[in-house]
Amino acid sequence: MNILLVEDEPKLHDFVRKGLQQQGYQVWGATNGSEALELAAAHVFDLILLDVMLPGQTGLEVLDNLKKFNIKTPVIILSALGTTENVIAGLDKGAMDYVKKPFDFGELLARIRAVTRKTGSKTYTHYKIDLVQLDLIARKVWVDGREVNLTKREFHLLELLMVHANRVISKTELAERVWEVNFDMGSNVIEVHMSQLRKKLGMEEFIQTRVGLGYVIEGNLICR
Ligand code: CA
Repeated sequence: MNILLVEDEPKLHDFVRKGLQQQGYQVWGATNGSEALELAAAHVFDLILLDVMLPGQTGLEVLDNLKKFNIKTPVIILSALGTTENVIAGLDKGAMDYVKKPFDFGELLARIRAVTRKTGSKTYTHYKIDLVQLDLIARKVWVDGREVNLTKREFHLLELLMVHANRVISKTELAERVWEVNFDMGSNVIEVHMSQLRKKLGMEEFIQTRVGLGYVIEGNLICR
């Protein structure tokens, strides 16, 4: 699971990052709002841990901007601002939970589990863009009603791009998610799989290459 940690206080940032890594989470760090938004737009996260008092834009402004950019990653606020008004403001802005600093690390972990359980239960299982339909439970793909047989990795690539439609996903991100390793990015493994996938779908333009950035599927996403 990928977590984006947005915290400007170096000691706390390190403490939370190390603690989460020890639990097996992959942690990406940002120390201000614009850095956080850039990362959230470029990568796929399961959760964002968001401080409120940040240099530049506040955590609440970050929540507004996430909404504006249509980034639906669940957010838990971690803040020293602990009044009821602060908590209400954070939750009303769209955060799924609000953890007051200082916090017990075990409790933070439990809240992370609770939020990801909730979002997990809300996850859609059927995705459709244009003529392409994806069933995440049956692991099946149809193009214009015709079933297409994909390998496990081809399916996973298509899944990531469809679930996060209209967002460019970098090769690094795809490599980490689909191959779960950091292989040499000089290799053309992703290009080879992508080319096979495009051939099987029979829609060359469906998955678009953004040179130097990654891949994207654009279109109207329907999910249920
Ligand atoms: Ca802070």
